[in-house]
Amino acid sequence: MIEGVLRTVFGHDGFRPGQGDAVAAVMAGRDAAVLLPTGAGKSLCYQVPAVAAFQAGRGTTIVVSPLIALMNDQVDALTGRGVAAAAIHSHQDEDDQRQVVAQFLAGELALLYVSPERAAMASFHRMLARVPIALLAIDEAHCLSQWGHDFRPEYLRLHELRGVVDAPVIALTATATPRVMDEIVASLRLRTPVIVRGDFKRPNLRFEVRHLGSDGARIDAVLAACEAAGLRSRAGAGRAIIYCSTRKKTERVADALKSAGFPAQHYHAGRTALARERAHDAFAAGRARVLVATNAFGMGIDQGDVRVIVHFQTPGSLEAYYQEAGRAGRDGEPATCLMLFGAGDLMTQRKLQQGSGNASGRTEQALAAIEKYARASSRCRQVMLCEHFTGSSEHAACERCDACTGATAALDGVEDVRARPAVEPLGLDGRQLILDAVARLRRPVGRGNLALALRGSRAKAVAEGELMQLPEYGLLQHASEATVIATIDALIRERRLVRRGQKYPTVWLAGRPLREPQASAGSDATAVTTGRPRRQRVGGGGSEVARELDRYRKKMARALKWKAYMVFQQRVISAIDAMRPLTKDALARIPGLGPAKIARFGDDLVALVQRHQPRDRAATTGTQVSLHLDP
Ligand code: ADP
Repeated sequence: MIEGVLRTVFGHDGFRPGQGDAVAAVMAGRDAAVLLPTGAGKSLCYQVPAVAAFQAGRGTTIVVSPLIALMNDQVDALTGRGVAAAAIHSHQDEDDQRQVVAQFLAGELALLYVSPERAAMASFHRMLARVPIALLAIDEAHCLSQWGHDFRPEYLRLHELRGVVDAPVIALTATATPRVMDEIVASLRLRTPVIVRGDFKRPNLRFEVRHLGSDGARIDAVLAACEAAGLRSRAGAGRAIIYCSTRKKTERVADALKSAGFPAQHYHAGRTALARERAHDAFAAGRARVLVATNAFGMGIDQGDVRVIVHFQTPGSLEAYYQEAGRAGRDGEPATCLMLFGAGDLMTQRKLQQGSGNASGRTEQALAAIEKYARASSRCRQVMLCEHFTGSSEHAACERCDACTGATAALDGVEDVRARPAVEPLGLDGRQLILDAVARLRRPVGRGNLALALRGSRAKAVAEGELMQLPEYGLLQHASEATVIATIDALIRERRLVRRGQKYPTVWLAGRPLREPQASAGSDATAVTTGRPRRQRVGGGGSEVARELDRYRKKMARALKWKAYMVFQQRVISAIDAMRPLTKDALARIPGLGPAKIARFGDDLVALVQRHQPRDRAATTGTQVSLHLDP
């Protein structure tokens, strides 16, 4: 009979792993706790017994489900197969609700879907007592655990149904750790349940993690993944879901995808119901092949051909991650699950979790687990995930993930995740400093040389050109070369700098013509723009050393997010200008510069003064210098 229902009603030839055990348990009147990965076919575990019991005149199956969309999808699918199923929920008008209740009371429903809130109501309990109930199915049972990521307090009251209904209970989830599983069994008062723990392996999914700090680099990764899956054209098979932690990010990423020519939409709970429905429909119909969404999207979504799932930001737990990533490749064909990771993501999650009132101990434990997953250097990702969910360490490596294939070293040239810590570009101040420097130059500059100069290098390429004259020279000494390069790249991606030339690529200010009208020779701005030392032409306020010291402290203040006077005061500038100290010992004699300041800025200040020494001489002995430079 069971096989008959499976074949004739659901059209499947046989059970998938785990389904048979679960069905057999409840058909024998036992409780069951079913832990199967997303896409494994959990619904069938209660739907087959429900139809069989209904056909045998044993009553209705009550299904508690946390989302209206999920209920509606299931009811539509079941009625499409000729199964009498309905849902009662708050989005129905009273007439519809009355009709469903009448059907239920007349014993006409094989399955009735309800929300946990309704399942807890006394009026609903009274209703249940009037009709034979064959089975209670608690879907997404991990919602009763505060350790899980979808805690719903009403789930904690579901055990009350036991006092009303004498029927076996089947609890189902895709996302329970052994500890959550124990909680499910205890909270629902399951009686010596049959535990079905599926093989969590999803052999067709390729798991990958990349450590990318900046949004720009992450967007590049998203574009590359969508491109590789052939999602640019409007027609064709395959889709992608890009999960972001915040609503704002979904908009930003969707914009980037659209500007790059991908048919993309975004989805989050802050959009109007109509906008969400449109995005969902466009995605379901394949008009939007990429959907950028928060975790508001997905539960119960059954698109088989999702080829790519990118987590643009690291989610708050491995449970959330595996559930969302598990939506890829439900059709069994290969699919990629890429998680982007940066330490800042964990902070974002902390804030989100605090906002939703989750206990911090649990949040931290969940974040520690996902961070460990992200930072793992050589362990199969699939094995780590399976271990997390099953508590067993007996899993074979997948041979597909980035760790198994050794693909982590050949990422995208931006950075190698595990070999090095993430390279974060500098923030706004650092970016502005780079733009200022490029704006002063007379001609495009090599990216590497610019980075060298900003870090205060004395390399020949820097010393010979105009780079050493920049007031920004050396101001990014505190940053690594990779960081400065990453920032220049970020500016290129943001289209604030443009890259010029192929053989010797250089960068230049976006929108600035290459040849500009000559600026008037005496202006202070051109003293730097032209790169020619126009020293001693002071025009009022102090020497060039003083002006450069002032610019230096302003830049440092920006970089350090300090006030300029906190770097050092005007009187220190005057003192340095007057004394021209050429060593740190000499610097230490200047009032207002303590050991901490000298440790921090001393080298820069000495270098700055030293730079002006020979050139001061050069102003009077130009021939010597040109001989020196060009022997
Ligand atoms: P879950 O709830 O575990 O995420 P679903 O119940 O939505 O998964 O099932 C996922 C997909 O697998 C559905 O398209 C379903 O029709 C299909 N499926 C379920 N059981 C079987 C089976 N025994 N044989 C073939 N396909 C199945």
